[in-house]
Amino acid sequence: MRAHEAGALHGDLGFSGPSWLRTPQDVNALVPQLWPRTVERTAGGEMAVGGVNIRKIAEQHGTPAYVLDEEDFRSRCRAFKEAFGGAEVFYAGKAFIATHIVRILVEEGLSLDVCTGGELAVALRGGMPPERIGLHGNNKSVAELTRAVEAGVGRIIVDSFDEIDRLTTIAKQTGTRPKVMVRVTVGVEAHTHEYIATAHEDQKFGFSLSGGAAAAAVDRIITEQALELRGLHSHIGSQIFDTSGFEVSARRLLQLQAAIHDKHGIELPELDLGGGFGIAYTTQDTPAEPRDLATDLMRIVKQECAALQLSVPHLSIEPGRAIVGPAMFTLYEVGTVKDVDGIRTYVSVDGGMSDNIRTALYDAAYSATLAGRASTEPPILARVVGKHCEAGDIIVKDEFLPADVRAGDLLAVPGTGAYCRSMASNYNHVPRPPVVAVVDGESRVIVRRETEDDLLKLDVG
Ligand SMILES: *Cc1c(COP(=O)(O)O)cnc(C)c1O
Repeated sequence: MRAHEAGALHGDLGFSGPSWLRTPQDVNALVPQLWPRTVERTAGGEMAVGGVNIRKIAEQHGTPAYVLDEEDFRSRCRAFKEAFGGAEVFYAGKAFIATHIVRILVEEGLSLDVCTGGELAVALRGGMPPERIGLHGNNKSVAELTRAVEAGVGRIIVDSFDEIDRLTTIAKQTGTRPKVMVRVTVGVEAHTHEYIATAHEDQKFGFSLSGGAAAAAVDRIITEQALELRGLHSHIGSQIFDTSGFEVSARRLLQLQAAIHDKHGIELPELDLGGGFGIAYTTQDTPAEPRDLATDLMRIVKQECAALQLSVPHLSIEPGRAIVGPAMFTLYEVGTVKDVDGIRTYVSVDGGMSDNIRTALYDAAYSATLAGRASTEPPILARVVGKHCEAGDIIVKDEFLPADVRAGDLLAVPGTGAYCRSMASNYNHVPRPPVVAVVDGESRVIVRRETEDDLLKLDVG
């Protein structure tokens, strides 16, 4: 029962923010785990990245803009590559893909997952060797599959019996024997800090393990011989913080592997455990280091193989978010500041749900910091919102910003490298922001800003 609107209830309802949000000691401090590695605050109080002052980036490229710390991105590629040793690391292109990104992946020795013809086109244009490309998707078209086969992609992760039909036809037409993996839904649902292991899996991806579809798909591919079955694949979810879900998934996959061995006398040479490794969006998140993930995953696979008397298959993983997520932040300019009923301050920026839909779509938490200057004012509870005609157009639900935050200030939101530009829309006919790569004191546009002309060109009347 609500006794009094202004009573003790205020504390419960989050007028001081969610329970994990601490009032910062220093409102200008940059929490290292949230920011790309080269980000710092200069003596003058402005933020800098890759040796370039944030104000200069805003002047040169405008706002809003996604800013990529190229050195940070490379270091995360390397960390996964080194930690997982002999395993193949497929960067999940859906997190964010551009030809410049593909070139870096090639240089760093990573492979690349795509899930549409469009992503495949970027991968090929960026120069990824086709044999290092994997094609995903639950509804790949004949055109997409044909293009992938003709390009010679290294593996197609088959997801349905319809797709096996299509691919078999294409294989015959082209005189090829495409390499495939079978996507298995293992009954593990991983989400943020928890995972749920279930017997059944009610979702659109893959072949169900419990219902026998996965075994049937494997049987069919092996007996028909039109496709080369390389192994089993599973991807259990996203923003995962520990390896217990992978343990269940690996165990279930390897049990199927053992059953295939018993029935067909074949040990499938590869095993893919997918991606989904979590990152820090706010101070409440503590992601695992790639080397700890690698140690755990490789131990789990070895143990299970020993128990089932299988040889250890060649492992692959598919991190997307964990590589590109923390490597980028979004730079905005503040347009209006509104104190709403003494509850909190609404800070409106020049972007919004069109450049970051994750807050609205997944109830995701983000943080923000004043980027163009430091402040000596005390922190106030703020909500960072966009410019769209939609009350749910929220970028950062709860954050402490300095009390003097005002129009014209630059604001940076970290952790926006994954699933922000790649999910960006033109809602309200807002042109999508550019991606600016910064390294060694230089900034350069790798994806240009959309213009109103770009949008008007699509409207053919
Ligand atoms: C989305 C996806 C990934 C990458 O997930 P992240 O959370 O970005 O690591 C990997 N594999 C598959 C099959 C996916 O669908």
